[in-house]
Amino acid sequence: MAELLASGGTTEMVRAVLDNGADAVYVGAKGWSRRRAQYEMDDDQVLVSAEYARSMGKILRVAFNTLPASREIPLLLAKVEKFTSAGIRDFILTDAGAMRELSLRFPGIQIHASVGCTIINAGDARFYKDAGATQIVAECRMGMEEMRRIREEVGVGIEVLVHATTCYTLLGRCTMSSYTRQESRIDAEGKNHFLGSPNRGGLCYRVCLAEWDRIGENGETEASMLVLPNQAYFLVDDIPALIDIGVDTIKIQGREYSVPLVGRMVRFYRALMDAYTQDRSSFSIDPWKERMAGIVSARDGERREKTEGLISESLTA
Ligand code: SF4
Repeated sequence: MAELLASGGTTEMVRAVLDNGADAVYVGAKGWSRRRAQYEMDDDQVLVSAEYARSMGKILRVAFNTLPASREIPLLLAKVEKFTSAGIRDFILTDAGAMRELSLRFPGIQIHASVGCTIINAGDARFYKDAGATQIVAECRMGMEEMRRIREEVGVGIEVLVHATTCYTLLGRCTMSSYTRQESRIDAEGKNHFLGSPNRGGLCYRVCLAEWDRIGENGETEASMLVLPNQAYFLVDDIPALIDIGVDTIKIQGREYSVPLVGRMVRFYRALMDAYTQDRSSFSIDPWKERMAGIVSARDGERREKTEGLISESLTA
């Protein structure tokens, strides 16, 4: 049975996610994950959340999925040491060098290669497995046959985002946002934050969703108010097939959404996965699609508001 994984942007959200039926929750170590600091956790919050997950027999996974500079590696190792000493065994990483280092120093830990790795084929998956990853997040546009093949041929776990947004470009390789906030600061621990770069301790300002002008060779405006495609997707229809091909983790993103909405999404996917696995022969997806429509509209409302705020922040910085 696939694991249901959801986001914990705050300690309150961690409790909501686990209480509503997720098997595992992921949180971002402050300054080290691909979100704004308000949706990340300091060390004490991570430890409290891990204890809560453990008390329920569930898993807390900590994201360190930014690319560390050489001088940041000792900081990373110290934090992971602190967390593993407290019993945390599950991590999300992007950097292949950091994966190798952690898997050698902390044998037995589980490393998931983040969506930021942009794994699009079996060769990529093999590369990250060799670096120490036990599971990989499939790139948002990867087809089911490719997932099945990678799982079988490479022998690595597969994680699928079922409630997310495709990027205009490949997410982990997108640098558009970093052009809007070319600032960096070093925090009290010595970690560098490049404000517009989610790959380097900042965040994505979703600038692909701003209105763009297309400028011709001679500087003339050829088209105005263009919006680049960045579609939301909700793989409700595909969940039975994803379970059947043996994906290891079904993941719901959304650290920036409200706690009630995240709790509602988790309840929905938990019930759907349980209903299918308990009685595959008489399962019908149609009633679930109707229920999903309400969640999609609530999610779109919250996302639109956040996106408008991010774009205007990037333009006024
Ligand atoms: S700017 Fe757009 S395409 Fe690039 S990472 Fe952000 S959401 Fe994705």
